[in-house]
Amino acid sequence: MNTELILNALKNVKDPEIGKDLVTLDMIKDIKITGSKVSLRAVLTTPACPLKKKIEDDIRQAVLAVPGVSEVEILMDAQVKKSATLSSSERLAGVKNIIAVASGKGGVGKSTVAVNLAIALSLSGARVGVLDTDIYGPSIPTLFGLKDKKPAVDQEKQKIIPLEKYGLKIMSIGFMMRENDAVMWRGPMIHKMLQQFLDDVLWGELDYLVLDLPPGTGDAQLSLSQLIPISGAVIVTTPQDVALADVVRGIAMFQQVHVPVLGVIENMSFFECPNCHHHSEIFSKGGGKKKAEEMKVNFLGELPLDIPTREGSDSGEPITMKSTHYTQSIRFKEIAQKIAGQLSVIQSTEPIKISL
Ligand code: ADP
Repeated sequence: MNTELILNALKNVKDPEIGKDLVTLDMIKDIKITGSKVSLRAVLTTPACPLKKKIEDDIRQAVLAVPGVSEVEILMDAQVKKSATLSSSERLAGVKNIIAVASGKGGVGKSTVAVNLAIALSLSGARVGVLDTDIYGPSIPTLFGLKDKKPAVDQEKQKIIPLEKYGLKIMSIGFMMRENDAVMWRGPMIHKMLQQFLDDVLWGELDYLVLDLPPGTGDAQLSLSQLIPISGAVIVTTPQDVALADVVRGIAMFQQVHVPVLGVIENMSFFECPNCHHHSEIFSKGGGKKKAEEMKVNFLGELPLDIPTREGSDSGEPITMKSTHYTQSIRFKEIAQKIAGQLSVIQSTEPIKISL
C-alpha cells in the first residue's frame, strides 16, 4: 500500500456539488500510512459545506476499499477559495468572497436575512464581516445591538476599525449618522461613502463579506458593482405579487452588471400558529419559488414569519445566535450552506474559454 494507491482510490470520490473528484480539486492533504492505518486531511472549499458528512463517509469507504487498509482517520478541514474576480481587484485584499443581499423593495426582511445568514456562516467556522450600505434605513446597528456604538480609528494607519459582535466584523452607515438624521444622498455622495467603506475600513482577512444593500435598483447598487467585483447576489422577497415584480428587476440588474445571482430567498412565506401549528399564508404562497424558476435562478429556501425571529432582531440578538437549534435557525443555516456551496462551485469551475 502506498500514497499513490490511496490517491487513485480517491479519484473516484466526487464533491457532489462541484461534480469533480477530490484529487483534481486538490482537497486531499497530508496522507500518512502507518501499518494498515491511513490518516489524511480533507480540505473542503467552505466550512459551511452542506455535504461534509457525505464527503467524509465517501472518503472513508473509498480508502477502506484499498487492499491492506483496516483503519482510516480523517481530519475534516476547510479553506475558502478566493473568487477569481476579487483576486484581480486591488480592493479588499484579504476578503475572499463578497455576498450582496438585495431586495426589490423595503420591509421584506433583507437586513434580517443578511444578518442571520452572516451569523450562520460564522458559526460554521468561517471568518465573516457585515457591511451595511442601506443608506435609507441602516438597521444593522439595531440588529446587532450596537446602536450607540461608534467604530474607533486606527490613528497610525488612519483607517476605521470595524466593530465586532458575535465574532463578526461589522460596519454600517448607521454608525456615522445620528438616529433621526435625514440625509439626502446624491449619486456621487453614495459612491464616495461606499468607496470609503471598502478602502478605509480595516476588514482584515475574511472568508465572506456580506453586504446589506439598500432596497431597489439604484445608485448604491450601481456604484458597488463599479467599485468591487461582487462574488454573488442573493435576492430576498416576500411571496406576493408586488414584491415579486421587483425581484425580476433585481435579477435583471445583477445580470446586467455581470454579478452571478446565487438565488432567491422567500421570506415571510407563511405563519405557523405557535399554539395549533396551522399554517397561514399571509402574503400568498410559493411566489418566490415560481419566480426563481421562471428567471432560471436557484430558489434558496422559504423562511416563515416567526415571532422569535422578530424579537431577536429587535433585541440585538439574532435568532441564529440566540437559539442555534431552533427550526428557523436551521433554515438560515441550510440557506447559508447553499450559498457557500454555490460560491465554491463558481470558484471551482474553469473559466469559460471563448474562441473567437
Ligand atoms: P428590510 O431590510 O427588507 O427593510 P428588515 O430586515 O428590517 O427588512 O425587516 C423588517 C421587519 O420585519 C423587522 O421588524 C424584522 O424583525 C421583521 N422580520 C423580518 N423577517 C421576519 C420573519 N421571517 N419573521 C418575523 N419577522 C421578520
